[in-house]
Amino acid sequence: MAKRIILANPRGFCAGVDRAIQSVQTILNTAQSREDGLPPVYVRRQIVHNKHVVDELSRQGAVFVDELSQIPPEAAAAGIPVVFSAHGVSPQVVKEAQELGMSVVDASCPLVSKVHREVLRFVREGYEIVYIGHRGHDEAVGVIGESPEHVHLIEHEGDVDDLDFSSDTKLVLLTQTTLSVDETAGTIAALQRRFPWIELPPSSDICYATSNRQAAVKLVAEQSDCVIIVGSANSSNSVRLMEVANEALAGRGSAHRVDDAGELDPAWLDGVQTVGVSSGASVPDTLVQGLVEALQGYGFTEVDSVTTIEENMHFVLPAALRKNSEFGLLTGYFAYKATLVTI
Ligand code: SF4
Repeated sequence: MAKRIILANPRGFCAGVDRAIQSVQTILNTAQSREDGLPPVYVRRQIVHNKHVVDELSRQGAVFVDELSQIPPEAAAAGIPVVFSAHGVSPQVVKEAQELGMSVVDASCPLVSKVHREVLRFVREGYEIVYIGHRGHDEAVGVIGESPEHVHLIEHEGDVDDLDFSSDTKLVLLTQTTLSVDETAGTIAALQRRFPWIELPPSSDICYATSNRQAAVKLVAEQSDCVIIVGSANSSNSVRLMEVANEALAGRGSAHRVDDAGELDPAWLDGVQTVGVSSGASVPDTLVQGLVEALQGYGFTEVDSVTTIEENMHFVLPAALRKNSEFGLLTGYFAYKATLVTI
């Protein structure tokens, strides 16, 4: 019997990642050549958590920095745009950009920005916020930065016991967008046992792309005896996909994560008849195709797919870029001082 690959659908790029990459790409595509040695665009942090995407945009001229202070003052004076990544930023970063006179294109995913707005609204209404997220992740840092004194971060069910609120405290729960749906359900149940009056957000903060990719990989893993996820180690949703797949494999085999086919370890395929494949929301599908070709080289010649839902989500470009486009100014981008726009 031929050895088989099952591809999970949906997988790969989500609407927020696509928008963030398109934002940088739009600026690069319309940049005019400069004689002052400045690059066409700066990007604060990885635009999305995928090293191949970052390497490719760097190759095209984008300069990635960890902090705004690394951008020379001449760049701000020349109106070189600075793109904020899909993971969002804290208001302190926004303020710093304003003080430095930078032209900002905010490519924060609208679904991350929604959580920022929820923090502001609940704090205004007198709530304390329990936030389930990953300490140090760019998204969590940005959300907590909206109100550090009122947002209480927990990572796992085991952290619930460390929280202490009196019964007259108005409490609400918010979460990072890329958590494991199942694991978060366990943490929420523990919170509800400890603080029965805690309120849930009007709609889940775990985004459609995260939920859809986890549902698809779960189904694929149930039919496989090994699962390989394409995605970077710092990509929260890619790592969650690996965890979800491991759970669904239920001991029949293991799930692994690779940045690309070059990291495939043939030992993982020993005795494997069916290998499931998926990819995180920041992963170009060419990397998945590369993995499929590598697997075919190991005799996995039959390729099937499992589709759980057709996605048709699309986000328009950030307002600063739309505005340029509307006025036909994209080709003269650097003459335009972008207003700071948070969608
Ligand atoms: S994973 Fe979800 S929240 Fe993150 S960029 Fe994609 S759509 Fe937005």
